[in-house]
Amino acid sequence: MKLEKVLIANRGEIALRILRACRQLGLKTVAVHSTADRDLMHVKLADETVCIGPAAPKDSYLNIPSIIAAAESSGASAIHPGYGFLSENADFAEMVEKSGFIFIGPTADTIRLMGDKVSAKKAMQRAGVPCVPGSAGTLGDNFEENRRLAEEIGYPIIIKAAGGGGGRGMRVVRSEAELENAIALTKREADMFFNNPAVYMEKFLENPRHVEFQVLSDGQGHAVYLGERDCSMQRRNQKVLEEAPAPFITPEQRKSIGERCAQACIDIGYRGAGTFEFLYENGSFYFIEMNTRVQVEHPVTEMITGIDIVREMIAVSAGMPLSIRQSQVKIKGHAFECRINAENPKTFLPSPGEIKWLHVPGGPGVRWDSHVYQGYRVPPYYDSLIGKLIVHDNDRELARLRALEALDELIVEGIQTNIPLHKELLTDPAEIKGGVSIHYLEHKLEDAAQKEAPNKEA
Ligand code: ADP
Repeated sequence: MKLEKVLIANRGEIALRILRACRQLGLKTVAVHSTADRDLMHVKLADETVCIGPAAPKDSYLNIPSIIAAAESSGASAIHPGYGFLSENADFAEMVEKSGFIFIGPTADTIRLMGDKVSAKKAMQRAGVPCVPGSAGTLGDNFEENRRLAEEIGYPIIIKAAGGGGGRGMRVVRSEAELENAIALTKREADMFFNNPAVYMEKFLENPRHVEFQVLSDGQGHAVYLGERDCSMQRRNQKVLEEAPAPFITPEQRKSIGERCAQACIDIGYRGAGTFEFLYENGSFYFIEMNTRVQVEHPVTEMITGIDIVREMIAVSAGMPLSIRQSQVKIKGHAFECRINAENPKTFLPSPGEIKWLHVPGGPGVRWDSHVYQGYRVPPYYDSLIGKLIVHDNDRELARLRALEALDELIVEGIQTNIPLHKELLTDPAEIKGGVSIHYLEHKLEDAAQKEAPNKEA
């Protein structure tokens, strides 16, 4: 089918980001939205709009028949799933293609392959991508075998659900005494949450960083890697502050891992934008999973490479060959992204409501990706991301200072935001140095809570 009109099956900042890319490509857009989202910026800007159901995500943004019907009635030729919601749902991708639309992303089979962590890991091992040492596949019922395997890998180990996601279905095991129980419990949880009791075993890395590689691939034998991002600053498995490139990663490491990721894309016939997530510890990379969609933090890579990832993923999904060669990918300077959330900066409780006053920063190297505007009401039904502040400069320190300056200029009134947290993080000595582990923020917040607690009692 010829690509003419794109239905955007998402909301918020990413829906607007996709709309912008479509417009630039001369494509018409259809915004689908819930009854709570009539006032979204991309709904105002789209060529056509279709209300697909009530506020609850399961009735609207996760409602497959409703979205397919909207594509049919609006005459859309393609569907862009964005991130979250249905973006990594293989059944949705299959339904989209069976209904005669282009799915802007990989094929349903690829999503399935990568959605199962055991098959994903096997595919990556075949392509020479380094993985966390662990079981060759799912764990069987023979405890003696599992016990021996754990001993071989060495404690601590982690039991993970093959079909897991969102940080659920995992259990760390520190000694043999806990092993049998942990396997049984994780299996039961996996069955309950993911409808798939299969679990596998991995070495548990105590203090890793989260470093991920961005790729673009056309499914026609061409793939490129666009360097890596560091997303170690996390709270409850949610990324807070991201940067590219990742501190202290050498050009040799970038090339070696990047080339293997690109090769893996060619091997599995991957089409679209994708991310290979790694844990990084003591100078080594360990693949954990692949995200088969555009990611929230893609802009930091766009800033350092000058490549429009969303535009490219649309083009390759429409059957065009990749327009970029690896030799054309040049990394320039450094970028940070602050996820601005509508939440209390200390308790992290969501803070929906009307934005009474909004002033966004500007100047060279400053980018604001956001769907909100003055007078907009942040609804309570969805995640609390209201915007992404992205900055770019010649080196990491300059980019950090630019981020602080931009955060000072960013004013959001009427609701609470985590702007103060970002200011604190960007002046934190460990962050200034760079390369903190994925546990850094949680520990920092625990320390701060403990320091405050005695005062409260007094
Ligand atoms: P999900 O799909 O649920 O996000 P991941 O496999 O990406 O699951 O793991 C989520 C998080 O769990 C990782 O970012 C990391 O913090 C932790 N984790 C997963 N595997 C390991 C491991 N082998 N060692 C240490 N931490 C791990």
